[in-house]
Amino acid sequence: MKRISAAFIYTGKSILKKAIIEIDDKGKIINIIDTKGKIKEQESLKYYNGVIVPGFINAHCHLELSHMKGMIKSETVKGLPGFIDEIVSKRNFPEDMHDKIHKADREMRINGIVAVGDISNTDDSFELKKNSNIYYYTFVETFTTSNTTATETFSTAERNHLKLKENNLQGAIVPHASYSVPDKLKKMIIDYNKDAQIISIHNQETSSEDEMIKSKSGELAEVMLKKGFVLSDFTFDKNSSLELNLSELKKSCNILLIHNTFSKEKDIDFAENFSENIYWTFCPLSNQYIEKTLPDLPLFYEKGVKTCIGTDSYASNTKLSVLSELKEITKSFPQIPFVKLIESACLNGAKALKIDDKYGSIEVGKNPGLNLITDFDFEKMNLKVSSKIKVLV
Ligand SMILES: [Zn+2]
Repeated sequence: MKRISAAFIYTGKSILKKAIIEIDDKGKIINIIDTKGKIKEQESLKYYNGVIVPGFINAHCHLELSHMKGMIKSETVKGLPGFIDEIVSKRNFPEDMHDKIHKADREMRINGIVAVGDISNTDDSFELKKNSNIYYYTFVETFTTSNTTATETFSTAERNHLKLKENNLQGAIVPHASYSVPDKLKKMIIDYNKDAQIISIHNQETSSEDEMIKSKSGELAEVMLKKGFVLSDFTFDKNSSLELNLSELKKSCNILLIHNTFSKEKDIDFAENFSENIYWTFCPLSNQYIEKTLPDLPLFYEKGVKTCIGTDSYASNTKLSVLSELKEITKSFPQIPFVKLIESACLNGAKALKIDDKYGSIEVGKNPGLNLITDFDFEKMNLKVSSKIKVLV
């Protein structure tokens, strides 16, 4: 058994001052002693002058793009349409891609990540996922250019989903985004997903996404046409990308909406009215990399909706670190309390992936992983640019 304590423990739900956490050899929490800030030196107690938080949940990643680090330069990208243009032409499958996937997995663990909602278009990451000490939920993602290629695309996804199940891995088939899934493929996904529990979809990542849905025009539409998308095979009969996204998804599922960079208050209200299971997932560093802007995060936090954090992939990020994502938020929006950020990065992500029986909060009986954050700003009770992370458990 280990006994540890720190200046503050952010449990994922609350803040405890100098509480003592007792854990067994497997990392399971067996006791939490609230000392009310009064701690005496005790034998076998390890005290850290920092903040302890639960293991992070990275709610959005594309592990299989790990070899694309630095391939698309942030300086040359001016928004998602240009990024799509580049990624479609530059995506390749080099020999060392499996090494890069392994490296990314190890890097995430070192950065305190214990579970990941990961997008896969292929089965390249499955072997790693089977053996990793990170928990993965795999979103088998589909998109294609027209109804003609829908059956073939869906068959690949179905094969990969089956392979996941054979390997005892969790996952579901999901659409990439409302604008990249033609009608025939959309119907196949809906029919297949009758029992699905957790779904994700990229949402309102760029300003021309809603324009594309309303009028099949604008910057995004132009790139999709250039890439061979047959827009007559796509029925866009809603007022926004968000409305179209939700119309395709089951209310009872946990729905992870990814990015939401251009979502407005009316979109938040629309989604929250649609379902109680919406998880707004933000990838701030990726948004800065591609769109050079951030979602209206203070609005989301003010409204008290469920928010999660993702790193996105190495195609649009220089690191896979939830802490770095949180620092980016704090830099732009210092008014968002750290306790709320930890809830997003831990408990909400665990709930979104339906693993909160084990992960997401420091509670007796759970095995959430424990991270120590040092160089913390104890005056503002928030992160500093220089804050660092160390995995304790
Ligand atoms: Zn993504």
